[in-house]
Amino acid sequence: MSSGTSAQGPRLRPSLDGIPTYKPGKPAGADAYKLSSNENPNNPLPGVLEAAVAAAGSFNRYPDMGAGELTAVLAERFGVPTEHIALGTGSVGVAQSLVLATAGPGEEVIFAWRSFEAYPIITQIAGATPVPVPLKDNGDHDLDAMLAAVTPNTRLIFVCNPNNPTGNVIHRAELERFLDAVPGDVLVVVDEAYIEFIRDPEVPNGIDLYRDRPNVCVLRTFSKAYGLAGLRVGFAIAHEPVANALRKTAVPFGVSQIAQAAAVASLRSEEALLVRVEALVEERDRVVAGLRAQGWEIPDSQANFVWLGLGERSADFAAACAAAGVIVRPFPEGVRVSIGETEGNSIFLAVAEAFRKAL
Ligand SMILES: *Cc1c(COP(=O)(O)O)cnc(C)c1O
Repeated sequence: MSSGTSAQGPRLRPSLDGIPTYKPGKPAGADAYKLSSNENPNNPLPGVLEAAVAAAGSFNRYPDMGAGELTAVLAERFGVPTEHIALGTGSVGVAQSLVLATAGPGEEVIFAWRSFEAYPIITQIAGATPVPVPLKDNGDHDLDAMLAAVTPNTRLIFVCNPNNPTGNVIHRAELERFLDAVPGDVLVVVDEAYIEFIRDPEVPNGIDLYRDRPNVCVLRTFSKAYGLAGLRVGFAIAHEPVANALRKTAVPFGVSQIAQAAAVASLRSEEALLVRVEALVEERDRVVAGLRAQGWEIPDSQANFVWLGLGERSADFAAACAAAGVIVRPFPEGVRVSIGETEGNSIFLAVAEAFRKAL
C-alpha cells in the first residue's frame, strides 16, 4: 500500500454508487406555497408547541431511550401491548431499521413502483436488492405481480396504503388475500403514513390485520396528519420478535425528548388535530372535484395529495406551478401536489386549468 497521503481516499461501499440521494420537496420561497412534501400546513397546536418547548429545557440530557410515556400512550390508544411498539426517527427511520433487521446482500425487498422514494434507498443501504413491481395503469398496487415476484430470497415487502405518490388505496379483501398468500417467513410492512386522511370504508386498518399475523408490521408516522414532520418521530406496531429486532437496529436515542413530548401531547389533543385533518380532507375533495370538472382523469386520492399522471410533461407543469407561486413535486411519471393552505390549492387549480386548456 502507498503512504497515508494517497490521493485515492477511503474505500466506500461500491453498493452505494447506485443509490439515489433522497430528494426533499423543494423549499418554497417566502411568497410561495409549499405543496411538495405532504406536510400539514397548520402551525403546531398550542398545547403541543408548549409541551415541546418545555421538553427543550432538558436537551442537555439524552432522551428516554425506551420512550416510556409515548409508548404507553400509543399502546393504550391502539389497544396493543407496549412490547409491540417500536419508535424511530420518523417512519423512514423505522422502515430503514426494518430493512436492516430482515435483509442483507443477496436478499430481496419488494415494493410497488412508483411508490415512496425511500424504499429503494433504504434497501440498498442495507446491501439488499430492491425489487420494484410496476403499479397498474390506474395507479393501484399490482398485488398479484408482487406475489409472483416473491422468491426464496424475499425478506420484506412494503405495501403503501394509500400509495405515495398516487393516493390509491388497497381494499380489505384484496389485502387480506395477499397477506394470506405471502409466505409466513416474509415480513410485510403496511405503510400507513396517511391513514388519518382515508374516508373510504373499504380500506382496512393495518392494526386489525397484524394482530393474528406474526409476519405483518404496521408503520405509522406523526409527520403528516399530526403535523410533527420537523421533529422526526414514527413507529411500528409489530409482534415481539420484529419489534425487538427494530430496537436492535435503530440508532440509539433516535427520538428526541422534544419529539416524544410533542407526540404525547398530540395524542392527548387528538380531537382538535382530527378536526384539522377533516378540513384537509374537505380541501382534498374540493381539489379532486375541481380537477375532474376541468377534465383531468385522476386517481381517487385517499391521502393529503393528488396525482396528475402527466408523464413527460411533469417538469413543465411543475415549472408553471412555480411561476404562479406553488411548489409541487414532479416525478418522471407525473406530478404530486400536496393539499395545503386553501389559497395555495386554489392557485394550483388555476394553473391546472390553464395547463389543460393549452394541452
Ligand atoms: C412521509 C412518508 C413516510 C414517513 O415520513 P417520516 O417523516 O419519516 O415519518 C413514510 N411513508 C410514506 C409512504 C410517506 O409518504
